[in-house]
Amino acid sequence: MRSRYNLPKGMRYSTLKERKEFYQKEFNTEKLREWFQNWNGNSTVKFAVIIGRHTRIFPRKYREDASTTIIIDEYNDFEDVKKQILEFVPESAYYDRNVYNEKQRIVSQELAFDLDPENLICPIHGTLADKMKRHQGLAFCELELGMVKEEAIKLHEELKKQFSQMRVVYSGRGFHIHVFDKEPFTWSYRKKQTLAKGLKKKGFLIDEWVTTGGMRLIRLPNSLHGMVSRIVLPINVDELARFDPVKDQRCIPRFLAKPTSFSS
Ligand SMILES: [Zn+2]
Repeated sequence: MRSRYNLPKGMRYSTLKERKEFYQKEFNTEKLREWFQNWNGNSTVKFAVIIGRHTRIFPRKYREDASTTIIIDEYNDFEDVKKQILEFVPESAYYDRNVYNEKQRIVSQELAFDLDPENLICPIHGTLADKMKRHQGLAFCELELGMVKEEAIKLHEELKKQFSQMRVVYSGRGFHIHVFDKEPFTWSYRKKQTLAKGLKKKGFLIDEWVTTGGMRLIRLPNSLHGMVSRIVLPINVDELARFDPVKDQRCIPRFLAKPTSFSS
């Protein structure tokens, strides 16, 4: 199997078998519980999966829905969520930052920031436009990964002036900063947009669509990013400077540790 994208060493698409193995043996619902414990949305959280939109790797029976965003909003508990994810063996899993009431109306939304490596200008691979021209809009290299990490550290530093309950997550490609402070959950679109524009003016390459809430789904912490075979890892900001997603065992799924799982 060959990746269509240039990726840092060791990063590649996960096979269906590997995705299954990960969700069976490594995906930990206790960590899921921990994540949502201090979230302001109680038990109304919705999950979502995409089975094979980018990798085109999907179970045959789901080929019609390989690119569809499938919402998981009917479940008994997190074990049940895990069971449903396992049914789809997806390339990606997400949760919905919207908080809904019993009538399914949006009452608030978690504020989050998304930093992706492809938006950075790489001394080797150039701008996003250059990468798009080579049909590698989702490609990134180790250099860009290092740069996006520095961005995440700087952005966290900046956001600390306003927020106190933040979580940093290595997303598999870049980094997410989640804000768990109560107040910003209730912010209007306009208010989030003002913040996003201000940050962009200061030079931060954040994805405005994520911050304003236009894109409400965000990668599920502790799930598998099936395009790079990395675990979506919540990480302490103090550890970020030393964190290397190419080598750090905490974000490398067990199946990659086994030499027999490699194929060329
Ligand atoms: Zn590069």
